[in-house]
Amino acid sequence: MKGIVLLGAPGAGKGTQAKLIAGRYSLPHISTGDILRSNIKEGTQLGRLAKSYIDEGKLVPDEVVVAIVRDRLAKPDCENGFLLDGFPRTTAQAEELDKFAQVTHAVDIEVDPAEVVKRIAGRRMCRCGESYHISSHSSPYCDKCGAELYQRDDDKEETVAKRLEVYAEQTAPLIGYYRDKGVLFGVNGMKSVDEVFAQIAEVLDGND
Ligand code: AMP
Repeated sequence: MKGIVLLGAPGAGKGTQAKLIAGRYSLPHISTGDILRSNIKEGTQLGRLAKSYIDEGKLVPDEVVVAIVRDRLAKPDCENGFLLDGFPRTTAQAEELDKFAQVTHAVDIEVDPAEVVKRIAGRRMCRCGESYHISSHSSPYCDKCGAELYQRDDDKEETVAKRLEVYAEQTAPLIGYYRDKGVLFGVNGMKSVDEVFAQIAEVLDGND
């Protein structure tokens, strides 16, 4: 049973690696950011609440995201393991998670802060869930479904600075939290997508 959480600054490549990990290990990929964004799109009450925080680059309150994750992990597809992407983001969230799930691997994707800014500024998303970088994908359309790509509102420069500050203050301490528990695995995120994934696979295969 694998209970994986992905750590790393915004733009470190968590979403990209999460898709690869979920595919290889047949784990449900649970991204709190994706869940919140789909609620915003559908205009739910949760979406309206989350939008005000997300647009400012702030974190949605702990109790809101903890409830989302608790409900999601209770679903049958999580019985044999799970992959969390973007959660936990605060020590309080990590402590809550420990009450209802067992984290076996906290994989920290390590990247230089300067690289992160470049990656986020060039990131383009598709509503089907794909994401691209303008340096390797110049077309404004998605290769998978043909829809027009867009830039996440919170990927715009003004908000990115705030998100990085929030990461350093509130999320980076989780590295120590999981190191103390003996489940932290750092990988070098400054490599290609395939190379980063190879490091992660080595970690996950080596610790059953
Ligand atoms: P992400 O797609 O993971 O970068 O998340 C986008 C935004 O959603 C974040 O900047 C936060 O505003 C919000 N969010 C996602 N996950 C969490 C979380 N675990 N705790 C608080 N806010 C979150």
